[in-house]
Amino acid sequence: MLPPVKKDRVITHLPRCFSPHAALHTKDGFHPQVKAVCQVQKAGTVNFNIAKVIVVGDVAVGKTCLISRFRKGVFDKNYKATIGVDFEMERFEVLGVPFSLQLWDTAGQERFKCIASTYYRGAQAIIVVFDLSSVSSLAHARQWLEDAMKENDPSSVLLFLVGTKKDLSVEYLSDGLKISSLLSVCFTPQSPDQLSQVEEEAIRLSEEIKAEYWAVSAKSGDGVREFFFRVASLTFEANVLSELEKSGARHVGDIIRLTDSTEANHTPSKRKSNCC
Ligand code: GDP
Ligand code: MG
Repeated sequence: MLPPVKKDRVITHLPRCFSPHAALHTKDGFHPQVKAVCQVQKAGTVNFNIAKVIVVGDVAVGKTCLISRFRKGVFDKNYKATIGVDFEMERFEVLGVPFSLQLWDTAGQERFKCIASTYYRGAQAIIVVFDLSSVSSLAHARQWLEDAMKENDPSSVLLFLVGTKKDLSVEYLSDGLKISSLLSVCFTPQSPDQLSQVEEEAIRLSEEIKAEYWAVSAKSGDGVREFFFRVASLTFEANVLSELEKSGARHVGDIIRLTDSTEANHTPSKRKSNCC
């Protein structure tokens, strides 16, 4: 029997998105049907308790550090995925139901752009990672997505576009004082202006490919936990809705495809102003 899920991995509310302009959806709670089914299923057997999540992007954008920061809570430059294991399991409890993310990290194959199709196949979420200080890594994001989508059904995959190394442009002194402008001149490869241009472009791309945008730092930890909680919550929600649809409990087309057009299905007409 598996040990209980750690207390800090318990999700009771839908976490907020990073930017309402580039979010898979901006609802402020789980879908009512998901909540209802979880009430009933808590003690029962469920089919939607695992999701394959693949992480792609140029070499050295920070994919492995991002995963290890979440898994271990530290910035570990020398972290290597366990040899012989393709993925790591991260266990959560969402609305009282055990749920695991199977996080797939590459073992350096991205250097040769020769990722095996088994890596991509059957993903429920695709995380395309780029480095906020590298414009070219963002330019390559589309190609990574196209490669990953060749093995997947677009209607059943959630996309996330994640800019890493946010700390390189915005730094904080130990007393919390923001010194981004100073550091950008002295030490960092990106000025805040350049960063905001990259971010603008990333948000544009997110809107176009229907991905949710996040900017994070594995070094400082900024946004990492929030991001993975959001991934866990949205994949869980999509899994439950998909199971309901398969079992005929929902109408086809009511599936959460995470665009504003579906919001009317289950959001109060007024979006709460504090959402995201
Ligand atoms: P991967 O090839 O995409 O898996 O990239 P890695 O996770 O191995 O990271 C590549 C390099 O970027 C390493 O030297 C890390 O120390 C550095 N790095 C990763 N994440 C961050 C971050 O959030 N901030 C900074 N400043 N450096 C990072
Ligand atoms: Mg790596």
